[in-house]
Amino acid sequence: MSMKTTLLGTGVGIPQPDRSQSALLIREDDISLLIDCGAGTLLRLSQADVMPQDLQAVLLTHLHPDHSADLLLLANACYLQGEDMPPVFGPVGTERFVKAMQAIYPYLAPLRIVVRELVAEEGTAVEAIEITTAEAVHSVAALCYRIDSSASLVCSGDTEPTMNVAELAEGADLLIHECSFPEGISVTNHSTPLGIVPAAQVVKHVVLTHFYPDCRGLEDAMARQLEDASGTFAQAARDGLQLEIG
Ligand SMILES: [Zn+2]
Ligand SMILES: [Zn+2]
Repeated sequence: MSMKTTLLGTGVGIPQPDRSQSALLIREDDISLLIDCGAGTLLRLSQADVMPQDLQAVLLTHLHPDHSADLLLLANACYLQGEDMPPVFGPVGTERFVKAMQAIYPYLAPLRIVVRELVAEEGTAVEAIEITTAEAVHSVAALCYRIDSSASLVCSGDTEPTMNVAELAEGADLLIHECSFPEGISVTNHSTPLGIVPAAQVVKHVVLTHFYPDCRGLEDAMARQLEDASGTFAQAARDGLQLEIG
């Protein structure tokens, strides 16, 4: 038994030709979880041979469009195929978001969408996979997720550097952390490489993602900068990067 993850989308709200918006696929045995569902996720999922109805759950870190825009298309795909929609977990506001989506497209209203709103430090589970949350520091309500099963993975979502991530990630095999900008740019609501050091120091491996266009060509150097400062192996994500954890 092993956990596999695929970085489906490593980009942001500003279009880039090789980076789809935020999405992360986690697979263990026959369980598949999706964390975030930005624009382009359905295409990336199909490239990974996963159909929406194959997912056991969709976990949203927050409701910014670059993390949630394809949820509508995921519901639409389930409707078109007569399939059940996977349950949706997310921060406060997720229920209202899903209801608004179904209100705009009334033909989707009969589709049953189970929504579970989570608060920080809440634990839940999808089959044998344990899910724990922490509060991210962002411009809207946002969660970081820890996934524990045969291995442990933490996804920061969008956040300023916060010790909440370091506490959630203690001992994790893999930390997937947003790194929106290179060092030297004044940033709020997001992270640059050196802000991630405390969280990187408590895990075995870090993957940086959620790169704004300002990072183009600098991604590997940003990962090296974090690795040098933290002593933990770090790499930059690209769409389609697959990792086996544990
Ligand atoms: Zn984002
Ligand atoms: Zn955001």
